[in-house]
Amino acid sequence: MLAPPHRLRLDGAALVANWRWLKARGGGAACGAAVKADGYSLGAREVVARLAAAGCRDFFVATWAEAAALMPLPSGVSLSVLHGVRSEDMAAKNVNARPVLNSPEQVRRWRDAGGGPCDVMIDTGINRLGLSPADVGLLDGLSVETLMSHLACADEDRPENAAQSHALIAIEGSVPHQRLSLANSAGVCLGPDYAFDLTRPGLALYGGVPRGEAAGHIRQVAFPEAQILQRRRVQAGDAVGYNATWQAPRDTEIAILNIGYADGILRAFSGVGQALANGRALPFIGRVSMDLIAIDVTAAPDLGEGDWVAIDYDLPRASATSGIAQYELLTALGDRFERIWV
Ligand SMILES: *Cc1c(COP(=O)(O)O)cnc(C)c1O
Repeated sequence: MLAPPHRLRLDGAALVANWRWLKARGGGAACGAAVKADGYSLGAREVVARLAAAGCRDFFVATWAEAAALMPLPSGVSLSVLHGVRSEDMAAKNVNARPVLNSPEQVRRWRDAGGGPCDVMIDTGINRLGLSPADVGLLDGLSVETLMSHLACADEDRPENAAQSHALIAIEGSVPHQRLSLANSAGVCLGPDYAFDLTRPGLALYGGVPRGEAAGHIRQVAFPEAQILQRRRVQAGDAVGYNATWQAPRDTEIAILNIGYADGILRAFSGVGQALANGRALPFIGRVSMDLIAIDVTAAPDLGEGDWVAIDYDLPRASATSGIAQYELLTALGDRFERIWV
């Protein structure tokens, strides 16, 4: 395969270090991993392999198509499908995964098909997916592995967090189950009271910092890098890029990078993003295009055609400058990158 002129460098040691920090933060709880959306775009198969080797045993995807794409799983690992079973999914029974049953219809469907080990999502207030506490009687006789709920506001200090935790505790006695689970990444930051038996972080594994408690502990995992296609000098007053939104205030050296919004470096970074080369910050100038970004390289006389620069993609910082959520910064990362685990 021809190596494309942009790549996503992925730090496997940082991924594992983040998982270990999250696991420790959960006290005695097991620490799983949400790998839906292709491991938040990093590559679910690679993420599962690395975390399984580090001791992670519980993985979560959204759909059966995502589950099928992960087969065969490393040995000793279990996979849960968060969106449960539609009738179209019942053909997927040869996929080695459990559904997370969310609705009375899904419970009925699973029972009619013979039951078997499953997980169950209880809605304790997010009003998204999940069985109402009033409906848990429908679960009688089912073999529930993980009984779970999902926090709506864990990235904020709000009374809803404790209320949801108490609601889960209130029903756990009426549903026989092996393990109880509530916390996503932000929930893990809330401390061991929220961890129960199993946590389900996603974002923080991949370098996202959902709450202050994680700052300084969670490491960046995904590093987009791009090659310089052309270097040029523009004169004071010249405009750069679509709609001439940037005009050179003085003679300026610029470089054009092979990366753009089709790769996930979205237009919200126009004028606020930056590239990094040998510790120097090189500001984006003008509009971000589909496949190209211009940067100011006046401070980097050594850089020329064919050289590589990093895009500053520290998630909390990039989110603050662009206004894009850390989750979206990850899931926006496109398919054209060569993904290189180091
Ligand atoms: C996506 C998801 C998670 C992981 O959430 P993060 O905020 O990325 O840590 C956990 N549980 C459920 C049910 C999810 O859908």
